[in-house]
Amino acid sequence: MKTLREILTDANERHVAVGHFNISDLGALKAIVAAGRGMNLPILIGVSEGEREFVGVKQAAALIKSIRAEYDYPIFLNADHTHSLDKVKEAAEAGFDEIIFDNSSLPMDENIANTKAAVAAIRAINPNIIIEGEIGYIGSNSEVIDKAPEGIALSTPEEAVRFVTETGIDVLAPAVGNMHGLLKAMAAGTEHKHLDIGRIAAIKAAIDAAVMGGPAHGPMFMTLHGGSGTEDADFTAAAKAGMTIIHVSSELRLAWRRGVEEGLKDPNEIAPYKLVAPAVSAIQKIVENRLKLFNGIA
Ligand SMILES: [Zn+2]
Repeated sequence: MKTLREILTDANERHVAVGHFNISDLGALKAIVAAGRGMNLPILIGVSEGEREFVGVKQAAALIKSIRAEYDYPIFLNADHTHSLDKVKEAAEAGFDEIIFDNSSLPMDENIANTKAAVAAIRAINPNIIIEGEIGYIGSNSEVIDKAPEGIALSTPEEAVRFVTETGIDVLAPAVGNMHGLLKAMAAGTEHKHLDIGRIAAIKAAIDAAVMGGPAHGPMFMTLHGGSGTEDADFTAAAKAGMTIIHVSSELRLAWRRGVEEGLKDPNEIAPYKLVAPAVSAIQKIVENRLKLFNGIA
């Protein structure tokens, strides 16, 4: 089976994106795996620090490994938004395939210094782990929110080049019009996020040029965070312009909640797996739809 690095290299060459979906329960995992396997596409499962605390760090790793082994299916596990060196080491030792070190809330110099230290710590434990770093601010909550957080600005190619060359990361998460969470109108489906596709292409070209031929690197990869609620055409355009991983979390959480509300309508039903069944099928449909857009499948 291909490694995650090989999967990302392949996606990068074909200008498509690997779908990254967050979970905190078996229902969502079941739905995402059914969608990915059904379409014969690789997937990344993400667990944030909060989600990891609930699922268990080692338990999340064991779950994903068991699915990968049983079905010979390319499913990988990412430690989403990891803020401390201790949590980075914990995920690396547990066998995660990717780790996102996120100190993007700090000034650039500190973000670079801390990300560089995280890269060294991860490489010392397992040099095969894919390491992602973040620049810019796109909000921090994967929830339904009243208004966009203040301070969101686009990352520049210059910032991106400095960050990737000084830290030695494999994957960059820039701010390109994306945002964590969903505004209420987005949750209702009446409004969508719009990405700066030109900026995505400019950052990708700049970081590829900066690392090309470097000692540690093949191509640079980029991740689009906060994909939930994005305009359909922008997903496909973002993948074409250089986003190799696209994150979707909030809209799965929203579907989970609405599905469970549906499941709870029968007051006599008490089997948890039946109560969450509408959520599972709703999440599967969303993941299938997103994977089509990430891969330019009509
Ligand atoms: Zn994110």
